[in-house]
Amino acid sequence: MLYQSTRDKNERVTASKAILNGLASEGGLYIPEEFPTIPITGTNFLQQTYQELAYEIMQPLLADFSEEELKKCISKAYNDKFTDKKIAPLNKQGADYYLELFHGPTLAFKDMALSILPYLMTTALKKQEVDQEIVILTATSGDTGKAAMEGFADVEGTKIIVFYPKDGVSDIQKKQMLTQKGENTFVVGIDGNFDDAQTSVKQMFEDQELKQMLNQHNMQFSSANSINIGRLIPQIVYYFYGYQQLVKKGEIELGEKINVSVPTGNFGNILAGHYAKKMGLPISQLICASNRNKVLTDFFDTGSYLKNRDFFVTNSPSMDILVSSNLERLLFELVNKDNSRLISLMHDLNRQGNYHLLEIEKNKMGEFYAGFAEEREIEEVIQQVYEKSGYVIDPHTAVAKKVADDYRKTEKEPLKLMIVSTASPYKFPVCFIGKNHKGKEVETLHEKTQLPIPKVIEELNSLPILYKTNIKTSGMKQTVLSLLNL
Ligand SMILES: *Cc1c(COP(=O)(O)O)cnc(C)c1O
Repeated sequence: MLYQSTRDKNERVTASKAILNGLASEGGLYIPEEFPTIPITGTNFLQQTYQELAYEIMQPLLADFSEEELKKCISKAYNDKFTDKKIAPLNKQGADYYLELFHGPTLAFKDMALSILPYLMTTALKKQEVDQEIVILTATSGDTGKAAMEGFADVEGTKIIVFYPKDGVSDIQKKQMLTQKGENTFVVGIDGNFDDAQTSVKQMFEDQELKQMLNQHNMQFSSANSINIGRLIPQIVYYFYGYQQLVKKGEIELGEKINVSVPTGNFGNILAGHYAKKMGLPISQLICASNRNKVLTDFFDTGSYLKNRDFFVTNSPSMDILVSSNLERLLFELVNKDNSRLISLMHDLNRQGNYHLLEIEKNKMGEFYAGFAEEREIEEVIQQVYEKSGYVIDPHTAVAKKVADDYRKTEKEPLKLMIVSTASPYKFPVCFIGKNHKGKEVETLHEKTQLPIPKVIEELNSLPILYKTNIKTSGMKQTVLSLLNL
């Protein structure tokens, strides 16, 4: 079981190498050469805990990890760091099933993968007998940064540098990052947006001079963004787990098809859902839900990807993205694994800001339905759900709920629908309570809803701000050099 690069079929590596490298050469992304099938029939599937299921699903994909190694990674990641012992509980509200992925240490779904990635990486380091230090370079739209630092803080043999758009994250996201403890963690604000940060980070990965300088100092870069296949593999697990809970609660029969709605930015989460489907999970439609930055909605509707457009800072900032990196992995399938066709599409995107699929390529995207929600609609949906059931959802989840409802109007034979819920409402309280509660957002949300305040949010105000650096996007490379003393 090897991984191949989307841009070079001769580049084939083991799972541990793919995770350590993060990005393949020439900017390619690693893909499993084939997907194993996970049997869901039989009682065994229904009895598995999250951790057991995680082992069963990840083991064939991480073929060069021993049973002991992988089980250790899983038990270090999915334990009482999560405040719900189910890890990813399913919550029924009316006709909707919310798969809650925000019970981890940073209150967003990024914890599902980033709590295990550092262990996968340090295990991979040992396996490859690499005695280099791993330097994680990460661009964040707000949630990855915190979750990655939380995961990598004080992990031996690693350093982590996070770049975030200083005017493009929520107050709580910013505070979470700037108060992060750890001898090996660095956080830097930039004057650009997420796409600017992601582009520069990718350039640094491909910068041969930089690579050599690191090498001389016994360091190598890797990525904690979802371009790293080590982020996507753990995310496949919760789709199976959500499905298992639907069966166990008697909501569906084993084998019955469901639809899934996913709030989408960098196309990582929904791609993991697509992979779950390839591995045998009975998913019919994958609903790709965007906010006002609806580049993906237009892409699925027309087959043309047009990144040159206005960028909006919205009330669901973790999805404010115009270049969805992981789409390259789906494209690779659409072009029948033709590296040169894929490279030419990616060059078009870089050079002219767009690419266009052929009719036969476009016709293969039928399992995806795409739609978007405006900011006002997001606020309305949150209110409606609350008034109906007393359940509070965050703005990202609200995007998925709104587009799921749009999809239902087109459906002839309705299937059960799972909404992937990606953040705690306490991370983005303003959408629910309005803007006039500066400094009192958390208390106000609590007073209005009686929803228990997560401990990590309660503690936030008493923690010191540890990082103050803001730079221009053009200075990112220089900053990395100086933080690493190169
Ligand atoms: C990152 C994030 C998303 C988008 O997920 P992608 O994998 O980038 O598509 C959605 N909601 C929240 C809360 C997030 O943090």
